[in-house]
Amino acid sequence: MIIKSATFTVSATRPSNYPPEDLPEIAFAGRSNVGKSTLINKLVNRKHLVKTSSTPGRTQLLNFFTINNTFVFVDLPGYGYARVPERVKKNWGKMIDTYLSTRSTLKGVVLILDIRRTPRDEERNFLAWIHQKGITAILVLTKADKLSKTKQKKQVQEIEKSLVLHPDELICFSAKTGQGLASVWQAIGYSIGQPDAAEASL
Ligand code: GDP
Repeated sequence: MIIKSATFTVSATRPSNYPPEDLPEIAFAGRSNVGKSTLINKLVNRKHLVKTSSTPGRTQLLNFFTINNTFVFVDLPGYGYARVPERVKKNWGKMIDTYLSTRSTLKGVVLILDIRRTPRDEERNFLAWIHQKGITAILVLTKADKLSKTKQKKQVQEIEKSLVLHPDELICFSAKTGQGLASVWQAIGYSIGQPDAAEASL
């Protein structure tokens, strides 16, 4: 994908503040610190389009970005911080549920997992929730550079088992080496109905 433009559009908490539903949209979800901002920045080849969340639980907003004036990326707030109060967790759930349930232009959710962690109920429930809504999930295992190829394979099998996935549903990704970048673009390209998106990406 040749990125001609990548611009921040708006932050929102509720549908009345979302931008108009006129472009296909991909949302990104994952626990805080998993590497979500880094992945988005790497995809659009910008260092600081998305601010990396060094303060856990602070970014409780949906952030919309328009890419090449042809599709939209939505950075969903990171989840899974024990220190976040129950009330905030509830609001997070409501905000995400409303977004996933109402957004007619949503074509897929990129669920980001750390390759070194076996998913817990939190991730299993979120994935089930996405599937239940009939939304395509793109599963990305990030920080792959932290493991050898042999260990990556072992973790892929472990995570496949834990999430009850078919083989080859997981994409190993590293922002450091660029591993998996083309595969993530390919999956996004198919989801937004632009299957050639990945072709020109590398
Ligand atoms: P977010 O909270 O999910 O947005 O996570 P960030 O993108 O801020 O990343 C959290 C930390 O992980 C940062 O220190 C990143 O530099 C690091 N990180 C993210 N992706 C990778 C990766 O692919 N490889 C390595 N080695 N570190 C990464």
